[in-house]
Amino acid sequence: MLINTLGSALAAAPIGGRLRRHYPEIRALDAAQLFDLEARASDRLDQRGRLKIAIIGFGNFGQFLAQTFARQGHSLLAHSRTDYSAAAASLGASFFSDPNDLCEQHPDVVLFSTSILSTAPVLHSLPIQRLRRNTLFTEVLSVKEFPKSLFLKHLPPHFDILCTHPMFGPESGKDGWAGLPLVFEKVRIGDCDERAERCKSFLDIFEREGCRMVEMSCVDHDANAAETQFLTHTVGRLLSRLDLKSTPIDTKGYEALLKLVQNTSNDSFDLYNGLFMYNKNSTDLLERLDLAFDSLKKELFGKLHDVLRKQLFENSEN
Ligand code: NAP
Repeated sequence: MLINTLGSALAAAPIGGRLRRHYPEIRALDAAQLFDLEARASDRLDQRGRLKIAIIGFGNFGQFLAQTFARQGHSLLAHSRTDYSAAAASLGASFFSDPNDLCEQHPDVVLFSTSILSTAPVLHSLPIQRLRRNTLFTEVLSVKEFPKSLFLKHLPPHFDILCTHPMFGPESGKDGWAGLPLVFEKVRIGDCDERAERCKSFLDIFEREGCRMVEMSCVDHDANAAETQFLTHTVGRLLSRLDLKSTPIDTKGYEALLKLVQNTSNDSFDLYNGLFMYNKNSTDLLERLDLAFDSLKKELFGKLHDVLRKQLFENSEN
């Protein structure tokens, strides 16, 4: 009886150990059955939340995301310019060289993980008429205003649009995603439970991994990202040109610089170029960086100049 009551309560209550608060009288004997019920309720939820996700652009970042999607039990399809059949197979994903074949599989979610620069041509070449009438389009580009306006312009109103940016990569997220930010904007989600649920199920992938979920407009994202992301990549790339090496007397600060170079150097130049070309705030940041470097040099050389001039006059007096 208790179990039946719990069963219906579980179906309605959020899962994850909150039952103890509702049912303080439950003791050890019931605990095993309770956990079993909880697990079954969790299974049911998983079943409902399992998505068929098509990843367009199966390069570095697309494959990195696919590992976690696959581990969470989602069914994966992939399409890319390069033939990644073997990589896809190793992740349990089906690879489609022809985007027509992929679209005919009717995925729930189409996720763009293409380079920023290639996103528009790839989207235009996708036979979206072969998809189901309501499909959720999402993307993980490192700039946000650009894909938002591209999707709004190109996709018919019956497609849902969710813009996201996982603010981590294969290097910074290699030990898990806990605490790492996932920025998102629900740009256009149809007004019905099923579509809202599908969007939630997709976002839940990141929430389950412990990501810090940040709902933010694409405009605000880009304003912030120029300061954080573009600056980080620029300094990392600048330092990488100095070919820095580890020494026996590395300080913590120097170790941090070497780590920054390592963190940014594996990303493609296309990605970095995209951060510059498709975020209007990046030009301003680059100019400010230039001015800051100039003023720092002026301050140093100004002081040096004063010392030299003083020495010059002292010598001439002598
Ligand atoms: P990327 O160089 O930005 O993009 C590589 C992907 O773009 C590959 O799938 C590649 O396909 C495709 N691509 C490039 N040029 C193409 C073209 N002319 N036609 C068709 N496809 C083309 O590197 P990435 O690291 O994999 O990033 C993918 C996306 O995720 C980017 O938008 C990036 O901003 C975003 N992102 C990356 C990270 C990261 O840490 N790496 C983090 C967050 C978000 P092929 O491999 O088949 O050539």
